[in-house]
Amino acid sequence: MFDKVRVRFAPSPTGGLHLGGVRTVLFNYLYAKKYGGDFIVRIEDTDQARLVAGAEKYIFDCLNWCGLVPDESALHGGPYAPYRQSERKDGYRKYAEQLVKNGHAYYAFDTPAELDAMREKLKSAGSNSLQYDHHVRMNMNNSLRLLPAETNTLLKSGTPYVIRIKVNPDEFVQFADMIRGEMEFDTNNVDDKVLLKADGMPTYHLAVVVDDYLMKISHAFRGEEWLPSAPVHILLWKCLFGLDEMPQWAHLPLILKPDGNGKLSKRDGDRLGFPVYAMDWIDPVTHDIAKGFKELGFLPEAFINLLAVLGWNDGTEQEIFSLDDLVDKFSIERVHKGGAKFDFEKAKWFNHEWIKKLDVEHYEKRVNEIFEEKGVSVTDARYLHQVMNLIKERCTLLTDFYTQGIFFFESPKSFDEAAVKPKWDEGKKEYFIGIICQFEELVTWEAVSIEELFKSSATQKNIKVGELQMILRVMLVGSKTGPALFIIAETIGKEETIKRIENALVVFNGAFNK
Ligand code: GLU
Repeated sequence: MFDKVRVRFAPSPTGGLHLGGVRTVLFNYLYAKKYGGDFIVRIEDTDQARLVAGAEKYIFDCLNWCGLVPDESALHGGPYAPYRQSERKDGYRKYAEQLVKNGHAYYAFDTPAELDAMREKLKSAGSNSLQYDHHVRMNMNNSLRLLPAETNTLLKSGTPYVIRIKVNPDEFVQFADMIRGEMEFDTNNVDDKVLLKADGMPTYHLAVVVDDYLMKISHAFRGEEWLPSAPVHILLWKCLFGLDEMPQWAHLPLILKPDGNGKLSKRDGDRLGFPVYAMDWIDPVTHDIAKGFKELGFLPEAFINLLAVLGWNDGTEQEIFSLDDLVDKFSIERVHKGGAKFDFEKAKWFNHEWIKKLDVEHYEKRVNEIFEEKGVSVTDARYLHQVMNLIKERCTLLTDFYTQGIFFFESPKSFDEAAVKPKWDEGKKEYFIGIICQFEELVTWEAVSIEELFKSSATQKNIKVGELQMILRVMLVGSKTGPALFIIAETIGKEETIKRIENALVVFNGAFNK
């Protein structure tokens, strides 16, 4: 039926890109790449009232950051251009008219006031559905009820109208979902959705079907929230192009709140203190910033990895997958039907795992930016690489490179005096005064020789070496944290080590001799 796998991600540019959206992109991408197919990004901007400035660019920036680059899109072009539905506007009407001609759709001239009145009437009659459907359509102002001559007069006089699908009652719409299996919908619950609006723009329902057909889409992966729209889409496929041409549907499970109670929303992220968008999203009207995973310090490798396993696994205990691994291992059969709970602690665990494997040269620029944002300029790239390799095991977020590494670039501004005070005495003070001279004379400034000298001097003076090491650490770092002590001394260099001991001695002397 289809010679090639062709999948599409079809976002409406209405705001930030939720992690569920990125997971939809990812599953589309993996499926396409696994089967040597094409991954298409089509911008669904037919609802012009909901468009948000900058949202389309933002979507492409997010995909670029994630490394999920489309083969065809509004940005990248391709043989089925244009890939922005507003630019395809003129092509949709003929399909809507064809449906009217074949009796599957009709013109509806109802004004907003008439529609309101219809709903009010249904409400006061105690109806639990306020839909425009087979129950009400014969009482409304449309071409099903009007005489053909009346309809023609209205059309000719330029009366605004929409085209609605005519859903027959008492039928079942069926399709096989790749994740959920056989699905069946009772048409009694499906309303006569608008297909073409009064301004000539198609609605999402018509546009999505026409474009999936014209762009030869073979598989359509989308979020579970689109399942209620599926019967309308299937009916349109049936009436317009035939079910043999229809893509295979896969409705992906929702990403749930951490407690499993409903879909994860931006509000949950705000409430619980974690991002739900891929990248920072600045609302162009309110200027509110919604935090993104990127800016928080996530690696795209980790972000992709954690999204892949939200609702999928490869059947083993493996949790860490690169994008190439995922292309290799992905199978739609192993996508779960049920929603997947989002766990931010687990998300951070993935990032930590990926940071441990970090290719420092690849991330030098980003880490440099993080230092710059804090007002620290790092000019020596080799030194930065050395530091990054030393501390990457200790970093969960990219931003931790600053907190964990700043002391390699700047002397501590304060010291953990509370840690040092109980261990401080005249003997220790003399020890450190003495070690300064010994360090000055040390020829090979390497961790092993520094350690040897430090320890032998402690033994000679009969002072507990553990206590001295803790104090030296506070002197060099400011706190009791950081990687191996003598590696720190080696890395910052002899002169700087001595300078920090001297500074600390002044501070401790002042603080502890009161
Ligand atoms: N435009 C829809 C959205 O905003 C796409 C749904 C679909 O993939 O069919 O998510």
